[in-house]
Amino acid sequence: RKCIGVMTSGGDAQGMNGAVRAVVRSSIARGCRVFGIHEGYEGLLHPELIKEMDWISVRGWLSVGGTSIGTARCKDFYERPGRLIAARNLVKAGIDALIVIGGDGSLTGADKFRSEWPGLLSELVEKGELTEAETAPVQHLNIVGMVGSIDNDMAMTDATIGCYSSLQRICEAVDNIDSTALSHQRAFVIEVMGRHCGWLALMAGVSTGADFVFIPEKPFKDNWQEKMKEIIMKHRSLGKRKTIVIVAEGAHDESLNKITPEHVKTLLSNDLKLDTRITTLGHVQRGGLPSAYDRMLATLQGVEAVQAVLDATPETPSPVISITENKICRQPLMDAVAATQSVAVAIKNKDFDKAMSLRDAEFAE
Ligand code: ADP
Repeated sequence: RKCIGVMTSGGDAQGMNGAVRAVVRSSIARGCRVFGIHEGYEGLLHPELIKEMDWISVRGWLSVGGTSIGTARCKDFYERPGRLIAARNLVKAGIDALIVIGGDGSLTGADKFRSEWPGLLSELVEKGELTEAETAPVQHLNIVGMVGSIDNDMAMTDATIGCYSSLQRICEAVDNIDSTALSHQRAFVIEVMGRHCGWLALMAGVSTGADFVFIPEKPFKDNWQEKMKEIIMKHRSLGKRKTIVIVAEGAHDESLNKITPEHVKTLLSNDLKLDTRITTLGHVQRGGLPSAYDRMLATLQGVEAVQAVLDATPETPSPVISITENKICRQPLMDAVAATQSVAVAIKNKDFDKAMSLRDAEFAE
């Protein structure tokens, strides 16, 4: 009988609870035992944070934002000694499969953990912390990833759990700002999340009809100031009574100089004489109810994640559950992580064409 551990790790996202609910109920329906590992990888280091879950324990979770089993960033899990403790606790709990819901960092950690298995177990037996009898039934650790991230920053999947709820939150905020901006003919500079990924900023721009959008993958040339002013003046000359500029957190120019909302505001106020305000949306973007799409995605992917655990053989590389052209699929986890990380590297190397081409398929969608 399989014994599955489910955890949420890294930044929280709406829909994570729905994913945990689907994993728990699908596991039980398929005859598995299932444990919630609380507070991300911290939970693997502390046995009291590993708790068996039943059907009723996730009642009502589909519509609850955030993650009720908690998430955290865990320093100790980066180092082998931390992962050794994690291995011991998993074996003691009888867990032989782990479904990790998180971003690329969390999934990298999970795959590293699996790659050290069963070496970690032999070491624990040598140290006398586990017996051969305890480790014999768990010679293989199955890892399955699910992507929870408001940024939609994972390669090889069209949407991450949380991104559409977050986009919805941003749209609602911009709509609210719109009415006051219109009344006073004001300009608003709105900062949204996205250090390496401009999906939220770009799609918020498309969805609200913003005047100008700054994203990390495709910076404007160094004369972006003139370009922005020209476009905004053109819109104003057509009778537009408000101006909305959306700036992703990680926005910069071609020389990687950060473009801040304050910088944009100064240009709009001083050069264009627009009454300009800044709104930083911050954690509002992570909050609130999961959208219908995220509930559906989390549920379908949670069911698939459990199926992937049941299908796994020692030879199968760890999968991550994706949605690709509207179908729930499995992708090789480390390929998806590597492709994701190569976007950040391309940006750092100022290879923006590469950054965009790596993103193109997702942005085109
Ligand atoms: P995200 O999953 O949202 O990308 P982080 O990168 O902060 O967030 O990762 C969350 C946690 O996953 C970290 O605090 C750490 O415990 C674990 N982790 C991340 N990267 C690694 C790694 N390379 N090796 C081991 N553990 C990792």
